[in-house]
Amino acid sequence: MTQVYNRVALIGLGLIASSMAHAMRAQGLAGEIVGHAKSAETRAVALEIGLCDRVCATAAEAVQGADLVVLAVPVGAMAALAAEIGPHLAPGATVTDVGSVKQAVIAAVAPCLHPGVTFIPGHPMAGTEYSGPRSGFATLFQNRWWLLTPLPDTEPSKINQLRSLLEAMGARVDTMEADHHDLVLAVVSHTPHLIAYTMVGVADHLAQVSNSEVIQYSATGFRDFTRIAASDPTMWRDVFLTNKDAVLDVLGRFTEELFALQRAIRMGDGDLLHAYFTRTRAIRRGIIEAGQDTSAPDFGRVAAAKAAGS
Ligand code: NAP
Repeated sequence: MTQVYNRVALIGLGLIASSMAHAMRAQGLAGEIVGHAKSAETRAVALEIGLCDRVCATAAEAVQGADLVVLAVPVGAMAALAAEIGPHLAPGATVTDVGSVKQAVIAAVAPCLHPGVTFIPGHPMAGTEYSGPRSGFATLFQNRWWLLTPLPDTEPSKINQLRSLLEAMGARVDTMEADHHDLVLAVVSHTPHLIAYTMVGVADHLAQVSNSEVIQYSATGFRDFTRIAASDPTMWRDVFLTNKDAVLDVLGRFTEELFALQRAIRMGDGDLLHAYFTRTRAIRRGIIEAGQDTSAPDFGRVAAAKAAGS
């Protein structure tokens, strides 16, 4: 594989950035990888495990001379970071981000960048419930969608260059409008996470009564909720605060459906429940057919753990 960028600056060195570093290294996609994270501890780990060629104490220093800058920090940290790096970006550089929400990131980052810089917002639809510099692995993006939400009038050659990098890391790239992205993600990711957090919270209350049974018998559906609800608290707090409108919209629809099912259970309407579950089962089949999960009975976790080397 050939080099796509001369110098890539990774700002934030957690799950997504470390996976990018491993994937870029595996294929020689970047001439040099420079990194920065908030804490000295993370920066030291990044050097120790060879994520980056160089680690800088400040983001401003890390972005100097980079032709690609990747903002891989929680969404709530993007604005301050963009203000810090803005004056230090090289003319001609591309800045992208990996934030789970797009409209709020665009509002936070775009005003801080000078006209010689191209901003291409992005979002890899890949992740695990782990975080930090040791959690990344080179195959995280294999066959996963990476959505780009370019601003109007973005030079196509810049988008194509970024697309080449992402595709070389195994991702499937698609472009869409930022507001559409935020609505889609509210349906497929953000609201499901909120429901998982809620369900685990309910079980936690019940645990006061039934104690260890919640853990002991968790191999039923509950265990999958606990995996999702173990996701990083900072990242998810920021997702809900910044994709508020779309999440509240989807949550309203969810509540209506829940009430309909609640009523069917109360009224003993088995036909409605059966028809509903038949429709949802077909959606699961569609996801497997689209290659976005395996049909293994453990939600693909065995395969994911193998890929992660754990
Ligand atoms: P993570 O593992 O928790 O890592 C976050 C990194 O950001 C850490 O290295 C942290 O440094 C650094 N950081 C935080 N605030 C910073 C600041 N002000 N300046 C510099 N560095 C800062 O997070 P992640 O899972 O990689 O997520 C990063 C982004 O990707 C988020 O915007 C998230 O929405 C998005 N995303 C995540 C997933 C997922 O499943 N995890 C999937 C797609 C997109 P320290 O370690 O020093 O605190």
